This record gives sequence, C-alpha cells and structure tokens, in this order.
Amino acid sequence: MKQKIGITGLAFMAASSIFSVIGFSCKTSPQMYTSSDSLIKQKVNEFIKVKLTTDLSVLSENDKKILPLFFKVGQIMDDLYWQQAWGDKQELLSGITDENLKAFVEINYGAWERLNGNKSFIDQIGAKPEGANFYPVDMTKDEFEKIADSTKTSEYTVIRRNAAGAPIVVPYNLEYNEGLKKASELLKKASDLAEDEGLKYYLKLRSEALITGNYFDSDMAWLDMKQNNIDFVVGPIETYEDALFGQKASFEAYILVKDHEWSYKLKRFATLLPVLQQSLPVEQKFKSETPGTDSDLGAYDVLFYGGDCNAGSKTIAINLPNDSRVQLAKGSRKLQLKNAMRAKFDHILVPISQQLIVPEQISNITFDAFFENTMFHEVAHGLGIKNTINGKGEVQDALKETASPIEEAKADILGLYMVTKLTEMGQLGENNLMDYYVTFLAGIFRSVRFGAASAHGKANMMRFNYFEKHGAFSYNEETGLYRVNFDAMKQAVSNLSADLIILQGNGDYDLAKNWLETKGVVPPSLQKGLDKISSAGIPRDIVFEQGETVVGL
Ligand code: ZN
Repeated sequence: MKQKIGITGLAFMAASSIFSVIGFSCKTSPQMYTSSDSLIKQKVNEFIKVKLTTDLSVLSENDKKILPLFFKVGQIMDDLYWQQAWGDKQELLSGITDENLKAFVEINYGAWERLNGNKSFIDQIGAKPEGANFYPVDMTKDEFEKIADSTKTSEYTVIRRNAAGAPIVVPYNLEYNEGLKKASELLKKASDLAEDEGLKYYLKLRSEALITGNYFDSDMAWLDMKQNNIDFVVGPIETYEDALFGQKASFEAYILVKDHEWSYKLKRFATLLPVLQQSLPVEQKFKSETPGTDSDLGAYDVLFYGGDCNAGSKTIAINLPNDSRVQLAKGSRKLQLKNAMRAKFDHILVPISQQLIVPEQISNITFDAFFENTMFHEVAHGLGIKNTINGKGEVQDALKETASPIEEAKADILGLYMVTKLTEMGQLGENNLMDYYVTFLAGIFRSVRFGAASAHGKANMMRFNYFEKHGAFSYNEETGLYRVNFDAMKQAVSNLSADLIILQGNGDYDLAKNWLETKGVVPPSLQKGLDKISSAGIPRDIVFEQGETVVGL
C-alpha cells in the first residue's frame, strides 16, 4: 500500500517539475488530498499563533513607505520557496477540504511533516524526494554526474529534463523568472525610497542580484550597512532543503527592524572581550590568544518570515552571509531576533519551567536573562582558544567531528561565565545573577525536549550531568522539581568553562569523544520530567500572523 502511494506522489512531483519548465499546464480532473493521521488537528494546535509586530514610531516616513514593498517581495519569496520545496501550492491546497489539514500543509510547506523526519501526512503522497523540487525526482546520481554543464552544482540552478528527457541545468533567473523580475523591480523602488545610504546601495545591488544570480556584491554591501533602521534579508540563502546534495539555495525573507538600544549593548560587551579573556579560570597558556572585538552582533524585531525560515521550526538567531569569500573579506553578521525569541520564551520556556522548577524560583525565569544567555553564547564563541598549545594545529581540526558540539558546549557555558564576570564588574546593572542561572537550566530542558540524540542535544546533556554531579542544582524525587543552588552553580560554571577550554587547548579528541558518549545521556529522573512536559500540552513551536495590517501600516 505504502509503496503504491509512493509512486503516485513521485509521479505528481515529476509532472509538476516538467510543466513548470515547459510552461504549460495539464488539465485533468482535480486530485483530492486526505489524511488518515488522526492527530492533525492536535498537531496544528501545537503551533501557537503569534503576531509579529514592533514599535514603528522609531521609523521615518520613507522607511514606512518601504515596508509595504518588502512585504510584497517577502510574499514572492514565500511563493518561490513553495515551488522549490513542493511544486504547485494551489493544486495541493485546492484538493484539501479539511481546514486543519490545510493549515498543517501550510505550516510544513507541503505534505511532509518537518518536525517528524519529513514523514508524509497526506495519504496520496509518498516519501519526500531528497532533492525536493530542485532536481527531477527520478534523476539518478549517475545521471547527475554525467551532466557536462559545470553550473549544475551552483546554488542558483535547478536540474530539469528537456523535451527528450535528458537532464539540463536551468538557472534560477529562468526557472523563477516571473517572480524574480517582479521582486527585483520592487526592491529597486525600495532602494529609490531609502534614505540611509547603506540600505539604498544594498537594496539596489540585491535587486540586480535577483536577476543576474550574482549575490556577492550585495552580500558585501549588506555587511557594510551599519546605520539602517530597517533591514531585509532576502533571496536564495540556505541550502538545507536540498537533502540530496546540499547545494541548492532556498528562497526566504526576513523583514527586520533594528533594536538600536540592544544592538548598542551588544557592541559594548564585545569591547569587553579582551578583559574577559584574561579573566578566564585557566593557566595563561590557554588564554594567550587575543579575542576578536569586531563581531557584528545586532538585535532585531522581525515583521515577516517567508519561505525557508518560516517552514516548520522558526529560527530565532541568524548568522549570514554564507558565502565564505564574503566571510573571509568582512566576517559575518549575527542577528538576534528578539520578538520571536520573546514568543518562544512566553509560550514554551515559561510553561516548561512551571513543570520542572521549584515554585520559589519561577520568578527567576526572565526574558532578559533568556535573551542575554542566547546573546552571550554568540559573544563567547570569540573567547578561549582557537589553536592547540601542543602542536596539534587548530582546535577544529584536532577535535574532528567532536569539534562542533564541544565548541557549542563551550559557548554556552562561557556565555554564563561571562554573565557572572560582568555582573561582578557591575556591567549588567540591576540584573540578578540567579535569573541567568535558573533561566539557563530551564533552557536545557527546552533544548533536550525533543531528544538528546543530536550533537547539540548531547552537549546539553553533558552540561546537565556535570551540574548534577557538582550539586549546581538539586532534584526532589517526590515533587519532580529542580532547584538551582547558587554557590555550587557559580563554581560549576567556572570549573566546566576551564575543563572545556583546556580540552580544546590540548586538542584532546579522545577525551572529547568520551565526554560526549558517556556524559551526553539522559538520566531516568530527567526522562520522567521530559515525559511530564510532553503530556502537559506545551506548544512545540510558533506560527506567525504577519503582514501590513498586523504591524499597523
Ligand atoms: Zn553557537
């Protein structure tokens, strides 16, 4: 049965791909789509609706005239992403009568459940093609190898079949010609309206890039832009949707309003990095490198998510551009998406805390602490050590596949160490250190909620188990609640920071591997807590109400 369904789905995908290139449509009786998954309604409700707004009074009149243009372009990116991830959106949606099923299809941009291993939830559709709609569904790897055109591996081309059935390379500006032309014109108009010179230039180059397929100059201009109030991340950007080769870039759009106050704070903390580096609780030889202070870190409110970034789980922090040539020349920019973080905090982190943290420490769960822990994680990547001290070369090479989870674990714990130091230095104002600690512990529960199997999950568990062993929190068997112990937590943060920096400095691959394997496991007591969370009906993620009327334009 499954097999048969699979073939129907594949046939549909293949047909839609060919027709989108050749440009005619095939009129047959409309296909109806149904689901025998009885949990669809519940699954839709697990995505809580959140309005994307911000204070627009900080914007100029021209900025406010630009935003509607951005919304139009954002919608085009969303439509283009539908074509990439699925194919014909209207054909699918018009074949569905059940409103919940429709909503779930829209959340997932297709018939495959993104937070559940891309399992098909539509009876008539089979497994998701690995290459989404970037390649002919029936194309073999061998066929791909044999294509002579060297642009076949470009992130801005798709593979189609010509009339004779042979695979051919089609650039994005042909495949998505109509949408890209329209988007380009709108961006040009936005550029004409822009007052900030940086924004004006970026939008002009981005408008051209959508047509030429050369994004390099516009990426460079985006990093040069510093004073703008509004920002627009737009175009084909991430390559995750192409699970076949990881090459093809997906369309997406974020409309952003900069939070100058927070961005200023972030900048100021970055300047304290050299002092913080020297304060690290390790011997001098592990902290002799000079941390970079030029990291471009900003806080933003998001007004629109479209395309790739809006599919399934929502991103709350981005680091762009991806082009390594641009990164080498100018570094990258890290954007913290504040209102989206706030939504996840209110609707997910707080309810989780209420299930697992002692009542008298619930008031220590604060948004400022959550936001700052996330932000200091980013800043902390700049601290510590990048080269081993014993001739093993770069830490990243010495630690091989463990490098990334160890570096993430380091950034998490060093972020908390920085908060501790900055509080002692009087740099964090009135804020209570205990808030950061309790909120951090709650953050671990949130991260391992859907399993600790991933590298990040293991890193989180490693930290959790270390805290438990050193009494940084205590657990009450009877109530199933956790309590942070301030002094022990402070000591554990310092000691674990030291352990991780020393491990990195020694390039100790065996120790790293051993840590992740033996200490990255979920203890039974915590599993009980996680089960409690999953039966408490806490949202899995958020879904947005967004657009001009929502922001009040
Ligand atoms: Zn990180």
